[in-house]
Amino acid sequence: MKKFAVRNLRLCTKECLCLYVCPTGAADTENSIIDIEKCTGCGRCAEACVSKAITLIPEEYPAPQKHDEDVLSIMNTVFASKAQAEYIASALPGKFARALERSNRLMAEDICREAGYMIPQGKNAKKFLKELSDAGYEKAEKLVKLVKSNE
Ligand code: SF4
Ligand code: SF4
Repeated sequence: MKKFAVRNLRLCTKECLCLYVCPTGAADTENSIIDIEKCTGCGRCAEACVSKAITLIPEEYPAPQKHDEDVLSIMNTVFASKAQAEYIASALPGKFARALERSNRLMAEDICREAGYMIPQGKNAKKFLKELSDAGYEKAEKLVKLVKSNE
């Protein structure tokens, strides 16, 4: 399966080991984003990175697991409650409120992932991007064209 390396800029501590081990120069770019045109997916950069800032991702994701309608409906309800809790916490002051806001966001993201909404090539993600594209978001339009569906 073809893979590409991606660098998480938040984790990157600029140790630059990836630049030395990359055989194609894909890791050495002006904007710090690994050049997928040059990347062969060999994984040397990910092994060398002491900050664990590089991950290999597949070009094609497997089709998402199917869920029954009633399971999806429960996921929707739980998702809505987490989103609401995040929203309420966001209006409160203090560190505890920030932690609550963040943890509710993470739980909501997990539910979305489980429901297949966050798999880039899944039909839910495609539908969501299409809605954004129809609403005038240019980047979403570009993604709709770029990302192949696997369902
Ligand atoms: S080896 Fe890791 S920490 Fe160093 S520049 Fe590359 S991605 Fe960043
Ligand atoms: S996976 Fe290989 S080719 Fe791609 S950036 Fe890392 S070291 Fe370079």
